[in-house]
Amino acid sequence: MPVCWLVSQEETHKPIILPHLQPVVLGRGPETTIKDKKCSREQVELKAECNKCFVNVKQLGVNPTSIDSEFKEDSGVLSGSCKRPIQVSSVAKGSHAEAPSVKAARQTEQSSSSVKAGESREVNESVGHWSQGLKASMQDPNMQVFKDDKVVVIKDKYPKARYHWLVLPWESIASLKALRKEHCSLLEHMHKVADQMVQGCLHTSSLNFRSGYHAIPSMSHVHLHVISQDFDSPCLKNKKHWNSFTTEYFIDSQDVIRMLEADGKVTIKEGTSELLKLPLRCHQCCKELPTIPALKQHLKSHFPS
Ligand code: AMP
Ligand code: ZN
Repeated sequence: MPVCWLVSQEETHKPIILPHLQPVVLGRGPETTIKDKKCSREQVELKAECNKCFVNVKQLGVNPTSIDSEFKEDSGVLSGSCKRPIQVSSVAKGSHAEAPSVKAARQTEQSSSSVKAGESREVNESVGHWSQGLKASMQDPNMQVFKDDKVVVIKDKYPKARYHWLVLPWESIASLKALRKEHCSLLEHMHKVADQMVQGCLHTSSLNFRSGYHAIPSMSHVHLHVISQDFDSPCLKNKKHWNSFTTEYFIDSQDVIRMLEADGKVTIKEGTSELLKLPLRCHQCCKELPTIPALKQHLKSHFPS
């Protein structure tokens, strides 16, 4: 998940987080350390469109404001070069004048120290068994690409496509079977975060994504897969991998939410595990391929590197 940081060039205040598309109101106060009374407590509203390297600046205070900014190149899973200056679209009531000189740096939230949710959550199950591996990964800052008070997003350790993330709730929920109606809002939030991951990806225009759950997961702790549809990865090795993402074994996030809203639980159809044994069929054109290498060769025609 890309976020912007408002960074003081003079280091007069700590970097201020500008989450993607969320308005942040700033002005005089401890956060910016601005004491000048000409600056209102609610002087500007900043709204970052991190994927476009764009921050919209709306002036709220009476006195004029300007922000001197640039995007820095970032690092991490959502990275890409983005060195052009922020386009500051100022809806100013007056002309531009002094204001804190600041920079916005585009980063992954991985480096954020402001979000600490989940770090001290209890983990009831044994964490030693391989099926509990997500519990360790979700606590590992090197795996985390986004977190808030409800969820964490990690990179899939064995990605089955060019982009493959898992959205996990901090709340300990073992599997789809444990979900109840009261989890609807959490799942909706997970879906929203998944969408934001896709929006923040620089290749959204050329790649399609799906967000969904494996009907019968192998790993414990509910996790929403967010996966690009190229399936271009050395970790995609067998029929089970392929069919788990390209048949009804993969249930779209929205369908799980709808089921939960309607029935108060998620029901997995009988015979679902048999779907993993189906012949290999291209998800783009339905052509049947005899082997995984043949399928991978075929996929290159749909998704040139
Ligand atoms: P599933 O339980 O079938 O929905 O999928 C579990 C996913 O977790 C797979 O895509 C694995 O590649 C991934 N995975 C397995 N172990 C780990 C781990 N320790 N950390 C992160 N991802 C993992
Ligand atoms: Zn095809």
